[in-house]
Amino acid sequence: MSADILKTPIEYLKGVGPQRGELLKKEMNIFCFEDLLHCYPFRYIDRSRFYLINDITDEMPYVQIKGYISDIQLHGQKRTTRMTAILTDEQGARLELIWFNGFKWLKGKFLPGTEYIVFGRPGKFGNKFNIAHPEIEPVTPDAIHQQSVMQPVYSSGEKLKSRGLDSKGISKLLRTLLPVVEKHIPETLPDYVRRELRLMDLKQALFNVHFPEDNHSLARARARLKFDELFYIQLNMLRLKHQRSSEARGHVFKSVGDYFNNFYHKNLSFELTGAQKKVVKEIRSDTLSGKQMNRLLQGDVGSGKTIVAVMTMLIAMDNGFQACLMAPTEVLANQHYESITNMLEGLNINVRLLTGSTKRAPRKEIAEMLQDGSLHILIGTHALIEDTVIFNNLGMVVIDEQHRFGVAQRARLWKKNITPPHVLVMTATPIPRTLAMTLYGDLDVSVIDELPPGRKPIKTIHQYDSNRLKVFGFMRDQIKQGRQIYVVYPLIQESEKLDLKDLQDGYESIVRTFPLPDYAVSIVHGKMKSQDKEYEMQRFVKGETQIMVATTVIEVGINVPNASVMVIESAERFGLSQLHQLRGRVGRGADQSWCVLMTGVKLSNDAKKRIQTMTSTNDGFVIAETDMQLRGPGDIHGTQQSGILDLRIADLSKDEKILKYARQKALDILDKDPDLRQAENYVLSKNLQKLFRHKIVWSKIS
Ligand code: ADP
Ligand code: MG
Repeated sequence: MSADILKTPIEYLKGVGPQRGELLKKEMNIFCFEDLLHCYPFRYIDRSRFYLINDITDEMPYVQIKGYISDIQLHGQKRTTRMTAILTDEQGARLELIWFNGFKWLKGKFLPGTEYIVFGRPGKFGNKFNIAHPEIEPVTPDAIHQQSVMQPVYSSGEKLKSRGLDSKGISKLLRTLLPVVEKHIPETLPDYVRRELRLMDLKQALFNVHFPEDNHSLARARARLKFDELFYIQLNMLRLKHQRSSEARGHVFKSVGDYFNNFYHKNLSFELTGAQKKVVKEIRSDTLSGKQMNRLLQGDVGSGKTIVAVMTMLIAMDNGFQACLMAPTEVLANQHYESITNMLEGLNINVRLLTGSTKRAPRKEIAEMLQDGSLHILIGTHALIEDTVIFNNLGMVVIDEQHRFGVAQRARLWKKNITPPHVLVMTATPIPRTLAMTLYGDLDVSVIDELPPGRKPIKTIHQYDSNRLKVFGFMRDQIKQGRQIYVVYPLIQESEKLDLKDLQDGYESIVRTFPLPDYAVSIVHGKMKSQDKEYEMQRFVKGETQIMVATTVIEVGINVPNASVMVIESAERFGLSQLHQLRGRVGRGADQSWCVLMTGVKLSNDAKKRIQTMTSTNDGFVIAETDMQLRGPGDIHGTQQSGILDLRIADLSKDEKILKYARQKALDILDKDPDLRQAENYVLSKNLQKLFRHKIVWSKIS
């Protein structure tokens, strides 16, 4: 029973016990031996290199120096506050060492003629470096040998540290654990896979990730563990996809008929872009296949996703089916309703709108028409998924701005149907490739990577707060030309009150600068009643107000082609994707549009990079990639609920290559053995079960 020992409760490990065991469970989710084994260091400190004091730079997170310690002094009169010493290296350069406690213990610890290894994080006072609370040990052959490796760093917390479970403490537990479980670590990949990809075996990888033999072995160990992690996610997803397509039947949309053709030839006033044509073809072939379509449509704001959605719904109608389009907010649903009824004018198509504010009488009428099949396209909000909404023959569901809808919500739309409708999810949030592969690995992905011709790219400029008057002047000028303007303030939960005050102050200063009767200013924020919000939004949409002061509630979808300027206040506080989303609210009309990023003078390096990225590109995919490089995948829109944060060692912003191998390998294997029945793949199906039995399949749309 080799697996059992790995399941031993963690408190039974020598050196743990009940109290520390409790902490490990609570703070680190480590319940058994196996959990500890897979708790990987988040980085390593290279203890093989020694530096000279004169070589220390600002960028070094840690340094290790050999030298002699002298001039130990206590500072502060009555209450000693600080102890310092001087480290002198072989060149005679001097570095101050500082302690703020533990004086008694330190006293007399360092001997004059002895050479020490000093290790720590360099700090700076004035322009002189120092090290506070360094680790110090005498130079002995043994010490040098012990330090000549990559030292693992585990994440820990205050509570754990107070119980001796700092990074070193955890490392010590692993030193105890490894020999105990050594013989019981089962290999998780078939031999043939390991051989083909020249992957280290699992046991060796686990040993090396915790106690690296050398740099090279560490790199191979990490690659192996990353591969494991990414491979099983892909294998799981691709298997689900396969199962779905072999089990779930889908409506067949045999022909393209009058609805589509009339629209295409009579109502469509422009030529489709190549990208739009490509996507329509992809959808065509999905809906002909006899399988249910689950397709994600990515396209930057303004790339023309709505037309694609409309054509898709028309094809459904041509084949006798109803269609619906779901939007995350009432404003958006309204806008879709208006633009789609416009587009379909004169084609004798029954389109209706259903939202929370639809009155009882029309609601009843809609319900009747839905059931007798005379309603063709229903557009709406969450109201569409209420139990009372029953379609006669729903064939196509389009979901706009997907990240605002939960998975469970989507599923409610068609549980009541026997054959599930085809699903097209549209999102304007470009997702980096690696993330898309992982988040939506079981969906088919279409991308509209081309904007309709004749668009004037939005010009983005950066202004410091001190240039506000100039920006006001520019705004006045644009309003004179008939344009409308958004001014957006950040709203960040921790300091909501302060943020709201910023917004109010900003609003007042704008009202003072742009007074009635020449100007009218709207304000919208999340704390307003939704009716009031709606009312203010509509005033702006209708052009009754020229300036809309808002928080990020306007981020998604709102379409006012006449709005040509987006001023973003405290732009340094927004993430890149959010800035890009906000910017997408302008640039929808024929006029030159502008995005003005207002910031303070002091900017962090990351903030500078964000601002610089925004001013230099309009490409949503470039922005999404940069965002992920800066923040890691965890903070990107929509990933929170996704389980991607559970990755233990792989990093989607760095491991694209490994991910591609992993996905390709999973594809190859399933191609030959779709149900993983062959003996050599037994280990795969066993591990799949073990890993994913308890997990919700969040990315599965139906
Ligand atoms: P989004 O992808 O942001 O949902 P929309 O579908 O709302 O974009 O399209 C934005 C604007 O571009 C709309 O006014 C639409 O009519 C127009 N549009 C879409 N496709 C084309 C095209 N091929 N040529 C010209 N204009 C187009
Ligand atoms: Mg849209």
